[in-house]
Amino acid sequence: MKKLFSRIEELYPEMVELRRYFHQYPELSFQEVHTPQKIAQFLTELGIEVKTGVGGRGVVGYIRGGKPGKTVALRADFDALPIQDEKDVPYKSTVDGVMHACGHDAHTATLLYVAKVLAEHKEELPGTVVLIHQFAEEITPGGAISMIEDGCLEGVDAIFGTHLWSSLPIGTIGYNTGAFMAAADRFDIEVIGRGGHGASPHETIDPIAIGTSVVQQLQQIISRRIDPLKPAVLTVASFHAGSAFNVIPSTASISGTVRTFDTDVQNKIIVHMEKIVATACQNAGASYKFNYTKGYPAVMNHPEETALLVQSATQVVGSEQTINIAPSMGAEDFAYYLQKVPGTYFFTGAGNEDKGIIYPHHHAKFDIDEEAMMIAAKVLLTAALNYLKQ
Ligand code: MN
Repeated sequence: MKKLFSRIEELYPEMVELRRYFHQYPELSFQEVHTPQKIAQFLTELGIEVKTGVGGRGVVGYIRGGKPGKTVALRADFDALPIQDEKDVPYKSTVDGVMHACGHDAHTATLLYVAKVLAEHKEELPGTVVLIHQFAEEITPGGAISMIEDGCLEGVDAIFGTHLWSSLPIGTIGYNTGAFMAAADRFDIEVIGRGGHGASPHETIDPIAIGTSVVQQLQQIISRRIDPLKPAVLTVASFHAGSAFNVIPSTASISGTVRTFDTDVQNKIIVHMEKIVATACQNAGASYKFNYTKGYPAVMNHPEETALLVQSATQVVGSEQTINIAPSMGAEDFAYYLQKVPGTYFFTGAGNEDKGIIYPHHHAKFDIDEEAMMIAAKVLLTAALNYLKQ
């Protein structure tokens, strides 16, 4: 392993250069053209067998070892966000309004250099490593589902993936068995009343009065209906109604998000939400529309692969820096891979106050401590090899 680690260290400047290249030419989810081409070209030049257009825009590489064994997949996403880059760095985004503000550029560079090192030692490899370069993680339905439908997990025994994480300090790895990231859903409610003069409310069906009551009652679901030991969030993030001080509008629109880790909790919330909306509207003589859209399911890490990851991370950063962290309420379509094959998703610390790397993900000044790529590369490499050697 020592030999492989020093090779990664040797290649680190190239990895940084490649990450900065991707950073300068970001592409939005479901619009990636140049990025997958660049990835495929890089892998092909290493002599790695490559499939392009997987599930649409995905790229999958296959490193078949010289010895027989299992198949392990490593995944990195490569899409960017509709954010104007406000960093003052030479590698800032050259595309107006588009930015790698979540570190997917670094995920991509990291996995490509893991591929390079593995390809150099292909003959000694006991099994196969599948490199899953995924498009469109940021927007549902995401790229994972269609890549899986297109066969990217065929023959795969286990999968590992990481997200560089700016709220964890550089030099740490964050893991958890079971729930790791939440299911993230969206709801849109329309209360349809009957508008009229503000002076004659009795001649109207006031959607604002009904809607505000709905918002209040929605807040009771988590506190009064859901087991307090099961985490859940229900946020009303938008309420729009009316445009004049003396006119009662005919409709009110309410939108928000629900985050859960448990399908039963999720379904219970949906049932209670619709009941509240239906009852409030019926009582007032209004009608309604209730649209609930399930997003990515929860990321549920499997125990054996998480234990293997912990062991692998310890080899790289030490046991004190390998931290069991609380689940995140954020979401990730890595969840879909884990529904099909065992595996684990973990965070690689990428924040560094001393270097001014303090901005959260999806912020216009977001950046990562690039040394996190070297750590992530070593951990992914170690996890893959430990898995194949066990
Ligand atoms: Mn992300």
